[in-house]
Amino acid sequence: MTDTPKRDILITSALPYANGPIHIGHLVEYIQTDIWSRFQKMRGHNCWYVCADDAHGTPIMLKARAEGITPEQLIARVAEEHKADFAAFRVGFDNYHSTHSPENEQCATLIYERNRDAGHIARRTIDQAYDPVEQMFLPDRFIKGECPKCGAPDQYGDNCEACGASYSPAELKNPRSAVSGAVPENRESDHYFFKLGDFEAMLKAWTRGGSLQDQVANKLDEWFEARPAAELTPQALAAIAEQVRVRVLRWFARSGLIEPADRAGCSPGG
Ligand SMILES: [Zn+2]
Repeated sequence: MTDTPKRDILITSALPYANGPIHIGHLVEYIQTDIWSRFQKMRGHNCWYVCADDAHGTPIMLKARAEGITPEQLIARVAEEHKADFAAFRVGFDNYHSTHSPENEQCATLIYERNRDAGHIARRTIDQAYDPVEQMFLPDRFIKGECPKCGAPDQYGDNCEACGASYSPAELKNPRSAVSGAVPENRESDHYFFKLGDFEAMLKAWTRGGSLQDQVANKLDEWFEARPAAELTPQALAAIAEQVRVRVLRWFARSGLIEPADRAGCSPGG
């Protein structure tokens, strides 16, 4: 045993999505993390390996509908399947939970309300594709049409698998809802934006402070790149707004990590 001071180490793996079974590609990551977790524990450090099912999103809603069950029934079944598979492969989580939990709702609400009260949340109205048959707003991946660059048919609303072009759903030719086949309508909806720029100095001090590789810090800098709104067309602004919205939603979903970490007896970032 070394004389290394005892460290508090909190680790996780990407949260598996709760719309289907664990596959072998998932397991590579969980087993590698498990090996590292066991190694650190054997060295005498305090190490917590926490994870959870990511139980929110349109694909879950659609999968449940296809099976004729509720989303809650689907994620409950998938959670049992995931836990059984992880146990069969001896993946030793210190806590495994779900983003669909009262604790996570409490944590996400707390984070949101504190940011809102401090003026770090902005509300804007943006145009978004709406399926008039299913009566739901459509994420980019649920709109299909012809690529605006090369004309390839049956492409998703965010990028073309034939030519690799990226674009906004508004640019797709002959767009259709992937859910119902209906022509999407443009409808206004209110969105809440986290003002990342308010924390730019603090975050950059951390990303450039020796905690991260330069390549990772460079990638994260993309989040701070902003152009004056006057330079942007309404479509470009909507596309950026959508990207930001998705990131904020993912960020809140990922804050589900906090709750299992809390259960395991350590604070986030500890
Ligand atoms: Zn294309």
